[in-house]
Amino acid sequence: RPLVRLEGVSKIFSNGTVALQDMTLDVRQGEFISLLGPSGCGKSTVLRIIAGLGDPSAGSIDWPTSGHDASGKAHPEISFVFQEPTLMPWATVFGNVWLPLRLKGVSKAAARDEVLAALQMVGLDKFADAYPRELSGGMKMRVSIARALVTRPKLLLMDEPFAALDEITRFKLNNDLLHLWEKFGWTVIFVTHSVFESVYLSNRIVVMAARPGRVVNDMAVDAPYPRE
Ligand code: ADP
Ligand code: ADP
Repeated sequence: RPLVRLEGVSKIFSNGTVALQDMTLDVRQGEFISLLGPSGCGKSTVLRIIAGLGDPSAGSIDWPTSGHDASGKAHPEISFVFQEPTLMPWATVFGNVWLPLRLKGVSKAAARDEVLAALQMVGLDKFADAYPRELSGGMKMRVSIARALVTRPKLLLMDEPFAALDEITRFKLNNDLLHLWEKFGWTVIFVTHSVFESVYLSNRIVVMAARPGRVVNDMAVDAPYPRE
């Protein structure tokens, strides 16, 4: 059973823009899916709908493997990474990564091990006490990834996370993300308009086209390098 299933999902904004037309997509556990396509083809709209940040105009979204729990939560833990790292400038790196746990009522002391483990995953555990202004763009993005991982999400949604970074930093982060994914087996949906990124990172590429936003191809890709 898929982790999440979109069936016939369309999104028409009030100004008449058809951002997404009749999209059907099964996301299986452990997949690293790239949503690849030009600007305006509806990639962000898909992520927002999956994250519950906007309702579809038509069609349905289901989470077949997760029942409604006592709090009425109908989907598993989801984390979102945006193109801008959006860190709080007045908080340390630790404070920024702690935030999602803090919002769930986890104290600083109780969150400590998890926050440091998440920072270690992105190679920044030595920078827990630094402030965002002291970090490079790539490091800020790593903090934002650590913040997304600290809740141990079942599904990681990434919206052009590396688009604003220089090519070398971007390549390093691609590598690190790939290794983390291989190690922890998250399910990832990664929005990009880089063919390189989609081929390098994912095991499935969903190609979209614009006006109206729609899926034009959905293909499995073999990793182009040996996996250990
Ligand atoms: P992508 O992420 O692929 O660049 P988006 O999902 O952001 O595409 O947008 C898809 C289409 O919907 C675009 O034509 C965009 O201009 C339009 N759009 C996005 N958000 C809104 C909105 N709030 N109101 C009207 N049109 C929107
Ligand atoms: P341990 O059992 O000693 O915690 P693991 O190898 O399971 O060792 O994990 C190492 C650290 O990585 C953990 O402390 C945890 O914070 C983090 N971790 C493990 N699994 C996940 C996951 N699926 N998502 C995010 N973080 C994880």
